[in-house]
Amino acid sequence: MRRYSVTEIEFWEECRYRWEQRYVKKYYQPEGKKGAALMSGIAIAEGLEAGILAGGMLPIAQHRAEEWLLEHDGERFVRGAKEALKAVPQWIWDMKYGIPEDKLEPVYADHTDGQWHSVTEFSEGDDYIKLVGRPDLWSANEDTLLVVEFKSTSAAKSKAKQKIDGYNWAVQPYAYAFMLKDTYPELEHLTTYVQHVLVTTRGELFEGPKKLIGAKAMQQWRNDVLTNADQIGKIENNRHFGVLCGYCEFQDACAVYRAGQDPQPIIDMNFKRRT
Ligand code: SF4
Repeated sequence: MRRYSVTEIEFWEECRYRWEQRYVKKYYQPEGKKGAALMSGIAIAEGLEAGILAGGMLPIAQHRAEEWLLEHDGERFVRGAKEALKAVPQWIWDMKYGIPEDKLEPVYADHTDGQWHSVTEFSEGDDYIKLVGRPDLWSANEDTLLVVEFKSTSAAKSKAKQKIDGYNWAVQPYAYAFMLKDTYPELEHLTTYVQHVLVTTRGELFEGPKKLIGAKAMQQWRNDVLTNADQIGKIENNRHFGVLCGYCEFQDACAVYRAGQDPQPIIDMNFKRRT
């Protein structure tokens, strides 16, 4: 059985150079080398989780974000993280947070009709793919399932607007929507929407459109994501430049490479390798 996180599939789809650095060579940024975006993003996510688990409490969220930053030498990001959390509207505080116990791990097989299906029974020798992931935020009522992908940025207003437009194409919430349905049968009949929400460390919030995913589109996403997962490692590098490059931790090395030079010294200086 092959096992892939949704993040890995997204990296594979977006840029195979970044995928290779992260998932094959296993480079990661050690403490002290993480950039402003990553530090603020983690602190905001920590705060959001604490605030939602406490029943939607902004002061607890801000306290947790500050605590995390002080623990990680990020005092200068405290104000921005608190501003970002202040911009979070009530309907998000009321959502369910994808806490670790909610990790989704459905298993799929490609049946004879050429479609990927979620399976719970296994035959020896068959090729299965397990998807692993955790939606940022989701909520369900008796009619509707909503999956929200929550992002943060320090970008100015016009840049932030561009980012949310770019993120609206990203695969994660679509994958989490079908993974949620395949994991919890009681969600199966619900009308499903996905949405991206972006907060900025200047206290602004951008809501992407709520996108309806019908049953046919859901099966299409399932097939596309699983087909991409199936191809991981089998296709050549497709490095390209897009809106998500702005969030890429290998941006500096990539720029050096584009200038025709060896990026390895930059990688060695800023990353460690998992063994
Ligand atoms: S900056 Fe863009 S093209 Fe370069 S490695 Fe990162 S995602 Fe790929």
